[in-house]
Amino acid sequence: MQARLINRDILIQCIVCEFEASDPAFIFQAGEYVQIVLEDGLKHYFSVMSSPNELPVLKIATRPSQSEFKKTLLQMPIASEVEINGPWGDLFLPEDGKERTYYFVAGGIGITPFMSMIKYKVEENLPYDITLLYFADPDPIFRMDLENYANRSPHVRILFIHEKISAESIKSKILDDARNATFMVAGPPGFVNMAVHTLVDLKIPQKNIILESYTGYTN
Ligand SMILES: Cc1cc2nc3c(=O)[nH]c(=O)nc-3n(C[C@H](O)[C@H](O)[C@H](O)COP(=O)(O)OP(=O)(O)OC[C@H]3O[C@@H](n4cnc5c(N)ncnc54)[C@H](O)[C@@H]3O)c2cc1C
Repeated sequence: MQARLINRDILIQCIVCEFEASDPAFIFQAGEYVQIVLEDGLKHYFSVMSSPNELPVLKIATRPSQSEFKKTLLQMPIASEVEINGPWGDLFLPEDGKERTYYFVAGGIGITPFMSMIKYKVEENLPYDITLLYFADPDPIFRMDLENYANRSPHVRILFIHEKISAESIKSKILDDARNATFMVAGPPGFVNMAVHTLVDLKIPQKNIILESYTGYTN
C-alpha cells in the first residue's frame, strides 16, 4: 500500500513519523508492525505506535542513526510517498471480551507496540489489566502520553525502571499471580534475551511469554 509522510517530529533521541495510508481498507491490530519502503528502495520494519482508531494515520518512532535509511527518513520532504507492507506480528490484544492480565516489558525504543496497545485498551475500554515495565533512561520517550493513559484507566499501571533488567529489578514489581499472566517483551535483541532469561528465572512459563526482537539494533 502507498502512504504519504504527513508529519515528522524530531525529539531528543527519537524521530516520530506520521504517514497517511492511501487504502481506506488498510487495518492493523494494536501492537503489530509494518515494513516501510522508502522511494530509494531502502526498507525497515517498525511497530506501529499509534492506535488503529487513528487510521488512516499511522505513526512510527525510531532512534536516529547514521544509516542511509534513517538519513533519508530525516531528510525526505513532507508529502513524500512510501510503501507500507504488512501488518504482521505476535503482539496484539485478542478482542474476545475475556478478561486478561498482561505485563508489557519494554526496552527503550521497544515501547512502540505498547504505546499502541495501551492507547487502544484505554480508548476501547477493553477488559485487560495491564502493567507496563518500561526499562529506559530517567527521561524516557513518551512518558507524558503513558502517564496520561494510566490516568484514564485504573487497569493500566506504568512503571518506569531506570536500571538494567534483572530478576531483582522485576521481582518486586510483579504480583503473586503473575504466572498466569501473559508477558509481552519488545526491544533490541540484547534486552529481549535478558528479559526472557529473567522471566524464566522467575518461573514464568515460556508459553506465557511473547517476544518481539528489534533485529537491526545491536544493544
Ligand atoms: C518486528 C520489528 C519491529 C521493529 N520496530 C521498530 C520500532 O518500532 N522502532 C525502531 O526504531 N526500530 C524498530 N525495529 C528495528 C528497525 O527495523 C531497524 O533495524 C533499526 O531501527 C536500526 O536501523 P538503522 O537504520 O539505524 O540501522 P541499520 O544500519 O539498518 O542496521 C544496523 C545493523 O543491523 C543489521 N541489520 C539490519 N536489519 C537487520 C535485520 N532485519 N536482521 C538482522 N540484522 C539486521 C545491519 O546489517 C547492520 O549491521 C524493528 C525491527 C523488527 C524486526
